[in-house]
Amino acid sequence: MKIVRVALDVPVAKLFDYHADDARGDDVGCRVLVPFGKKILVGMIVEIAASSDVPSPRMKCVLRVLRDAPRLGNDDLRLLRFAAAYYHHPLGLAVMGALPARLRRVRAPRPRAITTFVLTPAGEAIAADVLPARAIVQRRLLTLFKERRVLDLAAIKAVGRSAPPALTQLASRGWVAPHETSEHPALVAAGPVSTGGPRLTVEQSEAVQAIQAHLDEFSAFLLLGVTGSGKTEVYLHAIDATLRARRQVLLLVPEIALTPQLEAMVRNRFPDISLTALHSGLNENERLEHWRAAQTGRARIVLGTRLAVFAPLPGLGLIIVDEEHDGSFKQTEGLRYSARDLAVVRAQQCKIPVVLGSATPALETYYNALNERYQLLTLSRRINAPLPRIEYIPTRGARLADGLSPRLLDAIAARLECNEQSMVFINRRGFAPVLMCRACGWLSQCHRCSAQLVLHLHDHRLHCHHCGFHAPVPPGCLECGNQDLAPVGQGTQRIEVAVRRYFPQARILRIDRDSTRRRLAWPAMRSQIREREVDIVVGTQILAKGHHFPHLNLVGVVNADSLLYSTDFRAPERLFALLTQVAGRAGRGERQGEVLIQTEFPGHPLYTALRSQDYVSFARGLLEERQQAGFPPFVHQALLRAEAPKLETAVAYLARAARIGKALDHRITIYDPVPAGMVRLAGRERAQLLAQAEARGRLQRFLAAWYAKLSEEPSSPARWSLDVDPLEL
Ligand code: ADP
Ligand code: ZN
Ligand code: ZN
Repeated sequence: MKIVRVALDVPVAKLFDYHADDARGDDVGCRVLVPFGKKILVGMIVEIAASSDVPSPRMKCVLRVLRDAPRLGNDDLRLLRFAAAYYHHPLGLAVMGALPARLRRVRAPRPRAITTFVLTPAGEAIAADVLPARAIVQRRLLTLFKERRVLDLAAIKAVGRSAPPALTQLASRGWVAPHETSEHPALVAAGPVSTGGPRLTVEQSEAVQAIQAHLDEFSAFLLLGVTGSGKTEVYLHAIDATLRARRQVLLLVPEIALTPQLEAMVRNRFPDISLTALHSGLNENERLEHWRAAQTGRARIVLGTRLAVFAPLPGLGLIIVDEEHDGSFKQTEGLRYSARDLAVVRAQQCKIPVVLGSATPALETYYNALNERYQLLTLSRRINAPLPRIEYIPTRGARLADGLSPRLLDAIAARLECNEQSMVFINRRGFAPVLMCRACGWLSQCHRCSAQLVLHLHDHRLHCHHCGFHAPVPPGCLECGNQDLAPVGQGTQRIEVAVRRYFPQARILRIDRDSTRRRLAWPAMRSQIREREVDIVVGTQILAKGHHFPHLNLVGVVNADSLLYSTDFRAPERLFALLTQVAGRAGRGERQGEVLIQTEFPGHPLYTALRSQDYVSFARGLLEERQQAGFPPFVHQALLRAEAPKLETAVAYLARAARIGKALDHRITIYDPVPAGMVRLAGRERAQLLAQAEARGRLQRFLAAWYAKLSEEPSSPARWSLDVDPLEL
């Protein structure tokens, strides 16, 4: 009798044994249909066993081994096993959660072919403005094609209702053509792969050589390059070398929608190489199709967000993590993994190089480079103009007009005068962060969250940015009935209104999550900025990430101070990274950029360090502080979170969990339970408990035992979860 161990999508930290007479030795990684209670579930075989603890008469039989899709490779499974063990999450949930939804269903429909269109060489050769100005949609489509090379039908339709006829027009001119997706044979074409590209600088070619020297072994690199130093070019050369060696490349980015320029660069440099994207914005059909492209090797380059770290890649030869410091590489629910950390583990398992790139690496990463666990590659200079000049505008006691200082307004006016672009950065969307009663001081609060309701202009409603609740603006104060309610503070909408008032002749564009919600709104806006159809951009951190706007020379920052005195020990690291990125948007063309930061604390050490744009000294200073205070990376942490309708319930649960933990290993530091930074969220109250140790191994062994004990407990009134290497404390 053959026995298979099956991973199932059920929240129990174990595998389930089934008889499977027709299972073959190579069925590990195959999906199976199994009876489970009264249901039939899809699972995955992760082991074939000779014996089981389940008595034979009680063991059920596999209904069917599904061989309709390629099985998951051993390397792919190994990473999932590691992730489940390291993050203390049931293997079944980890494995099934990594699969595209279609493969988790009992009835897995065959994927439909996706129709995509590609820019032809003729289309590439002409400029979008050869089209008459009234052919707006055709122009917009063509610009989009030039940026992305390949568009699927959904993306085309999202441009507008008349996009399909416009597409037909472009096709009849021979500028775009339908794209055959399935014709690329697996992992064959060796070269020639890349086309063109500038001559590398000395620093760039040193970095490329260092990576190329380690293509056949595990090696982790930190590519530390100031903004605009040409990190992408280093990636492209490393990709080229990997493709020539007939291997696949995994390129991880924080958010695809925010970094289409990188995708375009890669597609343009490797026009004959198929690239596939994996991210949460795909529909189920696309997700399955792209997953299969990766798995069959049809896709030689996989560009994806954090979930792509689990993509099946039989020929993987290189992993790149761009903007590795970015918080969105960390999954904050379910399997709470860090895709950056797993990328390093995956590279280690597959014996291949991994490149982590950033201008402001996470301190954990930089520390690894200082310890020579990672090899440090530095790009210290910008390619074109020098780094932007950073200046502070003191605002304490100053009279600001709608949050904008006269100095900043003058600077914008001066840029307008010379036809240059400016950007005003503010890290809050909406009109005003809160509504206040002038009589009694009442503030608009979300009744489900410990958060204020944000006033939005477009629908004239109050919105909670945490739980999604919204309500009309009340006619008067909910406490005293007074009708004089005042918006307090600034958001993007309010800054936009103010800027419009000061510069009525200027073309102004607001960019935040609200204005870019529609699919492809943001790509269209980005090309408007690049084509100089905009004079002033007002926006949030969407603007910060990696964009290259050659005519943007002035960046103004409003309200940065709010992050300066946060209680989170990672706040300075994040603020430095954010402001470096924002500042890095200025002066990427020929002229030196100017960055004006409004602050009440111009002498703050963080601002001093930022002005000299010296990440290395800043990071060394922070590391020293962390060492003295006993914070990561000098200790390793895990957070046990609990939530319940009432805070006391959550705290009481954690207090008991702490006692259980202390009995397991007294050398683990376990702190007292505390209310979470945001106590109430969507009507539930949350508390947390921090456990830490100096050695990762010790903490891991403890967590395994602790997790097992806590899981054995009869159902608790609080819902709990474990977060290993938490980023939010
Ligand atoms: P980063 O990602 O480090 O901020 P980018 O990769 O966006 O920087 O590069 C900035 C600009 O410099 C881009 O326009 C890029 O095409 C250009 N560039 C990169 N390397 C070179 C080079 N060796 N010679 C000329 N231009 C380059
Ligand atoms: Zn009132
Ligand atoms: Zn809320």
